Amino acid sequence: MPATLMDGKALAAKIKERVRREVENMARKPGLAMVLVGEDPAAQVYEAGKRRDCQQCGIYYDTVRLPGDVGQEELTAAVEELNRREDIDGILIQFPLPEHLDGRVVQLAIRPDKDVDCVHPSNVGDLILGVDSFQPCTPAGVMRLLEEYGVSPAGKRCTMVGRSNIVGKPQAVLMMLADSTVTVCHTKTPDLARECRGADVLITAAGCTGLITGDMVKEGAVVVDIAINRDSGGRLCGDVVFDQAVEKAKYITPVPGGVGPVTRAVLMENTWKAAARHGKK
Ligand code: NAD
Repeated sequence: MPATLMDGKALAAKIKERVRREVENMARKPGLAMVLVGEDPAAQVYEAGKRRDCQQCGIYYDTVRLPGDVGQEELTAAVEELNRREDIDGILIQFPLPEHLDGRVVQLAIRPDKDVDCVHPSNVGDLILGVDSFQPCTPAGVMRLLEEYGVSPAGKRCTMVGRSNIVGKPQAVLMMLADSTVTVCHTKTPDLARECRGADVLITAAGCTGLITGDMVKEGAVVVDIAINRDSGGRLCGDVVFDQAVEKAKYITPVPGGVGPVTRAVLMENTWKAAARHGKK
């Protein structure tokens, strides 16, 4: 029997509705700011999406646009200005930055209590220690999807394909903290197929169309595809060959409509939580 689809749009709508109701009762509204460097068309699309999400949730939204040739000091100064602003509770930097800029300097500049996507090293440290703080939106969104469909990570074998700082590593940590036994794969993994076939929960974020074929999926596995790629026809797709994997898995996320919308909803939730921590009521 084909897998049950894990409907990210439906879960995102629920999360955002809850945030909207909480925010409705607040006299001082939460605020989110996004720092955009340069004119990358994909980043403009993300920005429009975040603006729309904020509107739906009643969250104030601001974009700080800086030219592609902005200097490091000017960028840091822009972040520090957001750190000081009382109307802004959450700060998001659109990565990747142009090559002449040092992303780590920017991450360190964000006030940790406004770091709603968990990129500041102190928040990353808290995450690894299992201390309650912000969780990065995409991995946190995956955990919410698993929870929504009653998939308990405890005692399961999880294979994470990808080890980036923003997705793969924190996802592996969250699964480990949720009592999964986690294997992390990357481009130097000798036998990716074998590692994937052993997984009860297979999570992939490689950014590689067609990477995970049906024969790499264990019968009855849960398959979560974080990647957002394009196929040869220009259509959005993930790493998983969906038509094949859907016949083997028990649960599977579609792309689009799986992890992406939940990521955006968790950002709204994190912004609301940041505002509450800032004493907004
Ligand atoms: P990245 O390029 O920084 O990292 C990719 C990781 O995958 C690396 O660790 C690399 O070793 C591994 N990898 C790549 N090809 C591989 C292969 N053939 N075999 C094994 N491992 C391989 O990318 P990222 O920023 O982590 O993003 C990954 C994907 O997730 C992208 O498609 C991105 O668009 C998507 N993404 C989606 C969301 C969302 O909300 N759904 C959020 C962030 C990123």
